[in-house]
Amino acid sequence: MWFRRDLRLSDNPALLAAIEAARADGDGRVVPLFVVDPTIWEPAGPIRQTYLVDSLNALGASIDRNLLIRHGDPVTVIPEVVRASGASSVHIAADFAPYGARRDAQVEAALDVPLVRTGSPYAVSPGRVTKGDGTAYRVFTPFYRTWLAHGWRAPASEAPGDVDWWMPMECQGRPTVSAHDIELPTLPPAGEKAAWARWEHFRSTGLPEYDENRNRPDLDGTSVLSHHLKYGEIHPRSLLVDLGDRDDGFRREICWRDFYADVMHQQPASVHSSLDARFDVSMRWNNDDDLFAAWAHGRTGFPFVDAGMRQLRAEGWVHNRVRMVVASFLIKDLHQSWQRGAAEFMYWLRDGDIASNTHGWQWTAGCGTDAAPFYRIFNPVSQGLKFDPNGDYVRRYIPELDHLPGKSAHEPWTALGGYDHGYPEPIVDHKLEREAALADYAAIKKA
Ligand SMILES: Cc1cc2nc3c(=O)[nH]c(=O)nc-3n(C[C@H](O)[C@H](O)[C@H](O)COP(=O)(O)OP(=O)(O)OC[C@H]3O[C@@H](n4cnc5c(N)ncnc54)[C@H](O)[C@@H]3O)c2cc1C
Repeated sequence: MWFRRDLRLSDNPALLAAIEAARADGDGRVVPLFVVDPTIWEPAGPIRQTYLVDSLNALGASIDRNLLIRHGDPVTVIPEVVRASGASSVHIAADFAPYGARRDAQVEAALDVPLVRTGSPYAVSPGRVTKGDGTAYRVFTPFYRTWLAHGWRAPASEAPGDVDWWMPMECQGRPTVSAHDIELPTLPPAGEKAAWARWEHFRSTGLPEYDENRNRPDLDGTSVLSHHLKYGEIHPRSLLVDLGDRDDGFRREICWRDFYADVMHQQPASVHSSLDARFDVSMRWNNDDDLFAAWAHGRTGFPFVDAGMRQLRAEGWVHNRVRMVVASFLIKDLHQSWQRGAAEFMYWLRDGDIASNTHGWQWTAGCGTDAAPFYRIFNPVSQGLKFDPNGDYVRRYIPELDHLPGKSAHEPWTALGGYDHGYPEPIVDHKLEREAALADYAAIKKA
């Protein structure tokens, strides 16, 4: 059983298939394997690396520390483990992301036993929700309707009880997170148990008010399950089954995750290229390094933006509303390409997911599937005043604004002594940059 983005025992169809195959073979032994693939491991920042190590520790603990960890390219590592163990099949959940799908095909070609794909990290696997003529959806709402009508499998049975886990070769040990120049945050607990605890907590406290509070970063109003879903510590169908026919708002968000995975599967080049090609060919980006650094370090002088970017570096997680506002600010106020921002997010996010991140950025830029129109430009100040009405979110991440009460933390320029504690003045004039962005957009529309 080659674990990848499914670091759980319960409701894991690929694992059940591995156990069944082992029993059919006679000896019933299953090798639980995780491969630390440098192509995925190295570009991840310290927060996602740390979270993954925690998650592997949790998985290992749940199988009596029998998790076999090997480092290297899966195309060579998987056949090595198969040879050492005499395994008669290798079991995985299908990966639909461009790199993962390519890697799996190469592993399959290198093996002389079957690579068996059972299930996927999604409620409905990419490629299954299509229009009547079999083509892919490009707009979310009709996708959502067909997705609902398609439905999803019931969760697989409980965690498998009596498995003969087997370690046929020396475990190379947990990956070690190399020294980085940041103080590592205390991350939320990782693993299957933690995921279920968080879901149960949110289901009883946050879900009833989700539709009302989901846009408020100052409140604990969303599930904060994205890192658990990213690593498959809980499967989305487990959440959907618990929802029944209720809670449409939350169900739609789970569907966005499936939608973006589908879009990425259908158009793998969209990892780097704008779906609206005019943005790559004709848009005049200004990739100024100093402006980018001010954004990345939360020193733009726009409190709502800066709080978000400081939260990103501090916790590796940011509220969805704030992700949209900081992304819009980089693209439309600083005129920098969405690709640059997406790469910064992918480095820091503990839930960093290539499909949701890339298409979250393309949506905000106005060049993706079902994108917000480019001309809808978030005002970073009024967004803050609306969604963090008491300034609590901003003060939580910006100590230089701690002395400003209530909503005045969003507008230090209006407060007496607003800049007394070293908070920077705005690096751009939003009104002017908005006009400039609209002019750039008008130019690419003509091109
Ligand atoms: C620029 C940008 C980048 C993003 N990058 C990522 C990323 O790398 N990884 C990631 O998981 N999400 C990403 N998102 C989507 C979204 O912001 C997060 O999934 C959400 O904030 C996670 O918090 P939550 O678990 O409390 O969400 P909830 O509101 O509780 O939603 C439940 C789950 O639904 C899914 N979901 C919710 N909103 C979206 C969405 N817009 N797109 C796709 N799935 C969604 C997530 O799996 C989430 O955990 C990005 C959004 C934007 C605008």
